[in-house]
Amino acid sequence: MPAHDVLIIGAGLAGQRAALAAAQGGADVAIVSKVHPVRSHSVAAAGGINAAINVADDWRSHAYDTVKGSDFLGDQDAIEIMCSQAPKEVMHLEHIGVTFHRNDSGELDLRAFGGASMKRTAYVADITGQAILHVLYEQLMKHHEQVTRYEEWFVTSLLQDENGCCCGVIARDVRSGQMDVLGAKNVILACGGAGQVYSPTTNALIVTGDGIAQAYRVGAPLMDMEMIQYHPTTLVENGLLITEGARGEGAVLLNSEGERFMEKYAPNKMELASRDVVSRAEQTEILEGRGVGARKDGIYLDITKVPRKRTLEALREIVNIGKDFAGVDITREPIMIRPGQHYIMGGVKTDVNGATSIEGLYAAGEVACVSVHGGNRLGANSLLDTLIFGRRAGEHAAARAAQMAMPQIPQARLGEDMAMIDAIIARPHTGRRVSEIKQELGETMNKYVAVYRDEEGLRTAHETVRRLKDESGSAYVDDRGTVFNQDVLGAIELGYMLDSAEAIVVSAIERKESRGAQFRTDFPERDDEQWLKHIDITTSADGAGGPQVSYSPVTITQWQPEERKY
Ligand SMILES: Cc1cc2nc3c(=O)[nH]c(=O)nc-3n(C[C@H](O)[C@H](O)[C@H](O)COP(=O)(O)OP(=O)(O)OC[C@H]3O[C@@H](n4cnc5c(N)ncnc54)[C@H](O)[C@@H]3O)c2cc1C
Repeated sequence: MPAHDVLIIGAGLAGQRAALAAAQGGADVAIVSKVHPVRSHSVAAAGGINAAINVADDWRSHAYDTVKGSDFLGDQDAIEIMCSQAPKEVMHLEHIGVTFHRNDSGELDLRAFGGASMKRTAYVADITGQAILHVLYEQLMKHHEQVTRYEEWFVTSLLQDENGCCCGVIARDVRSGQMDVLGAKNVILACGGAGQVYSPTTNALIVTGDGIAQAYRVGAPLMDMEMIQYHPTTLVENGLLITEGARGEGAVLLNSEGERFMEKYAPNKMELASRDVVSRAEQTEILEGRGVGARKDGIYLDITKVPRKRTLEALREIVNIGKDFAGVDITREPIMIRPGQHYIMGGVKTDVNGATSIEGLYAAGEVACVSVHGGNRLGANSLLDTLIFGRRAGEHAAARAAQMAMPQIPQARLGEDMAMIDAIIARPHTGRRVSEIKQELGETMNKYVAVYRDEEGLRTAHETVRRLKDESGSAYVDDRGTVFNQDVLGAIELGYMLDSAEAIVVSAIERKESRGAQFRTDFPERDDEQWLKHIDITTSADGAGGPQVSYSPVTITQWQPEERKY
């Protein structure tokens, strides 16, 4: 059985940054990913990463914008850390080889993004995530003597020793179907978000809430789960993302009457108000009959306002997306978009070093909730979050490992997980298909747990999720083999998605106010007196009691809650 000082689950930006930091901290590191690392969803990140680099900017301004963007639910101690350390982190990326866009004077160029009081988004055209992820991967290869890579290995469970400390995982080599125990002094979850709980979503097929559910199942609290971000510009037909960079470069939103309707909703920031505000404005226009397209369920994003040369240079990926997926040349005509599921602000509750409530278990990146995004994340703050808190988790896990011996690693779970997989494969074809249940889940969440919510819809969603949980127990797969059996992994992922969905719905029912991405039509006001607090969701070890709700306070350092206007 292999064992490592620091075992990282996930090789997106959070996982790779954690691995680099832990290796530099002297630890023996391993990184596990169910897909090849550079296929992690981070590779799709487009628009950029925020940092107060401009001499006229100040990290406090970035922090205030983030607090305001979060609708005052973000923890300000964590936000201060993230924003004050951002310039150094971006310069570090630049020094290890990320080719950020430069301006005519040769300095790093910055583009405008939503909710920001000045231009502070560094970028590489509209492939920023890809550029950073590939450079970090090169760094891991440079540290290959210290970093073992388990590429295309799928983690099925977290292990705990007799004291309840996390001490490794059970994983399956996707290529061969072989299962193994991977022991560790510390485990860092960097498994990304849970976008596939919704359909459509901007998130890749692999973003299925694995880490969120695995932590939840060993008793770690989840926090801010009701806060689901709908991005204002996703393609009407399939939910593909058109980066906020487009609006940052000057694109505008128009309704069926040709109006720039954001004038009504956010007269100062217009299209660059925060995402929750813009998505709600669009949804309101659609609901009031001013949508565009045959079904009137879209809004026009007019990118022709941006000079064509600039679009072809700085937004070239969405030029391709427009052509390939909507048949539209965005440099010459408007494209139809609408709000679509994009990001989960909530996740596994951690402190500012990535530590969860379980000794030896850390979490960083989209899987985690520090909480720097609170009720609504600002565009280009997620890449920053993955890197800052990935690094901090890596450093802290390496330091903890240096002071301890390898724990006793229990082996029994290996047999249990092997039996669990055999049982899925052996299911008779009498129940429903995994893919059917997943589709019903996605459509249900997108209908009832979306931009606008109310008690009745949320209760319907909860009943559906519970029924789908029951049905998933007998859901069958077609592939009975061992080599690259993605089918059986899909069945396991469905379980993770259903756990994540239930936590989202229960939290959304609980929060009886409107804040950030949670807008309750039955409680349309923000209510600081009752609800300026986080909702935490836990479950008992066997999950039998279902989700349990508790609360934790919001950390306020320098910015008192005030009315939020853009
Ligand atoms: C289309 C798109 C564009 C975006 N653009 C931007 C942007 O411009 N700026 C910005 O700040 N944010 C952006 N975001 C958000 C941001 O990209 C993500 O929040 C961030 O990249 C998440 O990184 P991560 O490291 O936490 O997880 P991911 O990159 O999702 O990586 C998760 C990793 O976990 C592994 N994994 C998961 N489950 C298992 C398992 N069971 N076993 C083994 N491995 C597992 C996966 O293989 C993968 O390696 C965008 C998101 C999308 C979807």
